[in-house]
Amino acid sequence: MDITKQKQNSNPTLLKLADYEDPILRQMTEPVSFPLSKEDKQIIESMKYSIQKDQLKKVNAPWDDAAGMAANQWKINKSIFIYCPNGTSENEIEVIINPSYEPLNDPSLETLTKDATWEGCFSVPLATGNVQRFTHIRVKYQNEAGETIVKELSGWPARVWQHENDHLYGLLYNDPKAGKCTEFHQFPTKEAVEAFYLQLREERKKEYESSGVSESE
Ligand SMILES: [Zn+2]
Repeated sequence: MDITKQKQNSNPTLLKLADYEDPILRQMTEPVSFPLSKEDKQIIESMKYSIQKDQLKKVNAPWDDAAGMAANQWKINKSIFIYCPNGTSENEIEVIINPSYEPLNDPSLETLTKDATWEGCFSVPLATGNVQRFTHIRVKYQNEAGETIVKELSGWPARVWQHENDHLYGLLYNDPKAGKCTEFHQFPTKEAVEAFYLQLREERKKEYESSGVSESE
C-alpha cells in the first residue's frame, strides 16, 4: 500500500475483493482495540464506501448488492463486518466490531431451531448453497464508539449475522467445518445464477398462492 498517498488522503478507498482461494478467508481475524486507531477508522470508512452498489460494480463483484460484508472479504485482517439488516446496502448499514453470537431457543417451542435457505457470498462467486442456520440468536459486539451491545435477532437478520460472523472465524458457508451447507450449486455464468434465483422465487410464489397466504416480503 502507498503510505504517502494514504496520509494525504483521508477519503475512503475502494477496497478490492479477496479471491476464493485467498487464505485470509480461512483464518480467524484479529480483534480490534478501542479507542479506534486512525488506521481502523480509515478501514471502516472504506468498508462503508466499498459496500455500496456502485463501488461493488467497479470491482466486478459477483453480486449486485450485499446484505453484509466482512473485513477479510476485502483482505483486511480485522474483526469487523458491515451489516445491512434490511438485506441491502442502500438503506441502513451498521458497523459491527468484535462480534460473537450464541443460539437461543425458539420462544414458542422452547428449543433450539434451525431453518435452511439458499445463500450467496461475495467470496464464493457463481455459486449458491442451501445453509442451515439457527433461527434465534443472541449477539454481542462493539460499535464504533466502543460500547458493548447485546441484542436478540431472529429470522433473516439472524441469518445474515451468522454468515458474516462466520467469515471472521475463517468459515465460508460451504466449508465442511461449518457443517451447515446441505446442498451446493456451482454455475457457469452470472445469468445461470440469476435464472436459478428467479426459478426459486417463482416456486415460492406458487407455494404461497396454493397455501392461500399472500406474499408480503
Ligand atoms: Zn459471505
